[in-house]
Amino acid sequence: MSTQIEELEKQVLDALPHGLFIGGEWVETDATIPVINPAKGEAFAEVADATPELAKTALDAACDAASEWAAWKPRERAELLRRAFDLIESRKQIFAALMTMEMGKTYKESLGEVAYGNEYVRWFSEQTCRIEGYNAIAPSSGKRILTEKVPVGPVLAITPWNFPLAMATRKIAPALAAGCTVVVKPAKLTPLTTLLFCKVLEDVGLPAGVVNCFTTNHSGATTGPLIADPRMRKITFTGSTEVGVGLLRQAADRVLRSSMELGGNAPCVILADADLDVAVQGAMDAKMRNLGEACTAGNRFIVHESLVGEFTKRFTERMAAQKVGYGLDDSVNVGPLIDDEQRSKVLGFVQDSIDKGGKVEVGGNPIEGPGYFMEPTVISGIQPGSRILTEEIFGPFAPIIPFSTEQEAIDIANGTDFGLAAYVFSRDLKNAMRVGEGIETGMVGINTGVVSDAAAPFGGVKMSGLGREGSQLGIEEFLETKYYAIPLD
Ligand code: NAD
Repeated sequence: MSTQIEELEKQVLDALPHGLFIGGEWVETDATIPVINPAKGEAFAEVADATPELAKTALDAACDAASEWAAWKPRERAELLRRAFDLIESRKQIFAALMTMEMGKTYKESLGEVAYGNEYVRWFSEQTCRIEGYNAIAPSSGKRILTEKVPVGPVLAITPWNFPLAMATRKIAPALAAGCTVVVKPAKLTPLTTLLFCKVLEDVGLPAGVVNCFTTNHSGATTGPLIADPRMRKITFTGSTEVGVGLLRQAADRVLRSSMELGGNAPCVILADADLDVAVQGAMDAKMRNLGEACTAGNRFIVHESLVGEFTKRFTERMAAQKVGYGLDDSVNVGPLIDDEQRSKVLGFVQDSIDKGGKVEVGGNPIEGPGYFMEPTVISGIQPGSRILTEEIFGPFAPIIPFSTEQEAIDIANGTDFGLAAYVFSRDLKNAMRVGEGIETGMVGINTGVVSDAAAPFGGVKMSGLGREGSQLGIEEFLETKYYAIPLD
């Protein structure tokens, strides 16, 4: 390994905080959890392992800080978030290298995530001063109706491993902007980036207890009591539909406000009049961004029969040309999967597609050696009954399904319980919109493979979730509308 990479790894290790972040203190525990570099298959750091008792102290701290934080003027909260944005920007190399080390994506992609994730901090810093209610005169009684937007109160945020910074900022920044305090539990596979984000918040002067972070090997045992605690006022979760459904059941017992960003199975529909250059680039972006380990990743490439041969050829060439390896190496453009379990899961989808009659165009195999690498894979001629038609792949495998009529494409696209992102490619915006309107989904990319943006409402329909993150709607998720009825006669 080059000395440059070793030097960068060392800088990351030197920058890491140690312990849980509770009530403004870094609290170490006897038990720890190793953090594995998925490119090497070996641990490079460890984090604290919170017990349910320690997790509860995080909620205690969030409750103690709640009224002070809610009383900060919006402008003051905005300025603190803006300072956090600037500090993340100045530490972006460390954040990026850390994400490559704990999650596997390439350094260039990690830098992209720092920019994307930090944009939520900037966006919500700006939105802080635009929290507004409205006034009205009740038509029948003449009473004045005055509304205020108030913070919901302490929030539990649970995040997944695939976007370690962006999933944290997308929840914590709007919560802080709204005046809520937070307890965050990152995924145990990638806990360090959230801890480093907490360090930034500490460094810019966030009062003790406003954000608290615990890492743990005991997800359900720590979060269950927090959800059941009457002082907790909201849960915001990003992760699998299966876990989300379980959390919603627990939340129901307390009628707890819930936002759920869950799984996806994005259709990528390439119409007969698509520009193939644009479609192939869009397909690469939708599939290979984050190695396909994204809830918005293109999961099914539904291509008109007149183009499917040429599309498959060009897309396969691009996939075959990807260089797989350790993401801190500049020449690499595809990193490892997060762990062996995830790799086996993706390879299981590959095998199922082959067993049902699909044809391997490229890839299909794990790459031997340390780390959880697999070949970028394309399978054409996907047959009905293949699991990927209804399940989420979460890896670098692109299945291709031909279609003949527009309605057939829409029916295939809608043939899943998910409805998060969809992509449509056409030279004619009218055709693209017609198909986009036919797909039951929260987001549609037209002639692009990327939909995420801090200014846009991110979220899904069907079993992909509840609520929206980003945009002005993202802050509303952390606000209650309270109204005063005022007779003036
Ligand atoms: P996951 O559901 O396994 O875990 C998500 C988080 O929940 C982690 O922090 C995990 O530790 C925690 N968790 C797991 N079991 C729990 C339990 N019983 N109680 C409380 N917490 C528990 O998901 P993952 O594997 O980390 O992430 C991948 C999934 O996330 C995919 O399905 C993906 O589509 C989804 N995702 C969705 C979005 C979105 O915005 N819709 C974004 C990114 C990822």
